[in-house]
Amino acid sequence: MDNTKNILIYSSDTTNSVEVAHTLSQKFKESGYLVETDFTDNKKTSLSLYSKEESRALSEKYQLIVCVGGDGTFLGAVHYFNFPDVPFIGVNTGHLGFFQEIMPDQLDLLIENYKNNRYTLQTMQTVRALVTHDGITEEFTGLNEFIVKCEENYSVHLNISIGDKFIEKFSGDGILISTPAGSTAYNYSLGGSLVDPRLKLIQVTPIAPMNTTAYRSLTSPLLLPPDLGLGIIPDNGGSKGRMAIAYDGFGMTFDTLDEINVMLSEVEVRLMRFESYDFWAKVKSKFI
Ligand code: NAP
Repeated sequence: MDNTKNILIYSSDTTNSVEVAHTLSQKFKESGYLVETDFTDNKKTSLSLYSKEESRALSEKYQLIVCVGGDGTFLGAVHYFNFPDVPFIGVNTGHLGFFQEIMPDQLDLLIENYKNNRYTLQTMQTVRALVTHDGITEEFTGLNEFIVKCEENYSVHLNISIGDKFIEKFSGDGILISTPAGSTAYNYSLGGSLVDPRLKLIQVTPIAPMNTTAYRSLTSPLLLPPDLGLGIIPDNGGSKGRMAIAYDGFGMTFDTLDEINVMLSEVEVRLMRFESYDFWAKVKSKFI
């Protein structure tokens, strides 16, 4: 057994999560591991607290980040640590727990499997958005999705291009661009397809598209390969409200947006899975 491995336990701040995190920390220590804990669900209060350098340094110190909470806590941890190379595993104390691999009554199994290398690493793609506004371009990364919409309840009018070719002017609530991992989240509620995370693609899903004689919009989701990006130029004159972007539950608003380019990112997130993990079995157990 390799006793030099450092484990970082990141937990939501609910009583149950904190208890589970303490128990797990104790069990890891009894098995000879060095453990550090972070009991704040930082998602609620702050964004990307780790710089890219600090994030890179994490992989020198830790070999596993255990995230105790639900999917929301896991997404928060991924952003808080700024998409580190260190693999994650989730213990589900939340509601759905699609990312989370184990339940709190399986802590011994987690340690046993980790000790004996009985696991695989699932690689998850992310989506990258370059957002140009007020003369600057900012970059955002989402593990589930990236969304463009109106801050208030107004419709948005967006000129959509694929690989530099104009496709349509979209009118409706907005556009969601999901990763395969995010296909089971908001994308699924919008009627988007479930996508096996082994596929490398982005899914462009319309949010309440208008399709009338006044406005024509594509009404079904589109799948794009890794080498094709989606271009969005908002018709700022035609939209009444402030524009909003959202990614993994975080968001920002703008008076106007000039241009947005969205593509599959090179940044990946790795999740430790037990050998019994099967994406479609998980879909069946959580959704059907
Ligand atoms: P949240 O309350 O943290 O999450 C909303 C629900 O989505 C929770 O039940 C969460 O699971 C689940 N979830 C998150 N990622 C998932 C995934 N990849 N597959 C399946 N379920 C997933 O909401 P939030 O903080 O506003 O945003 C976090 C995510 O929630 C967003 O990235 C978005 O995809 C999703 N969301 C969905 C809707 C919708 O379906 N109408 C609306 C807004 C946001 P846990 O219970 O385990 O946390």
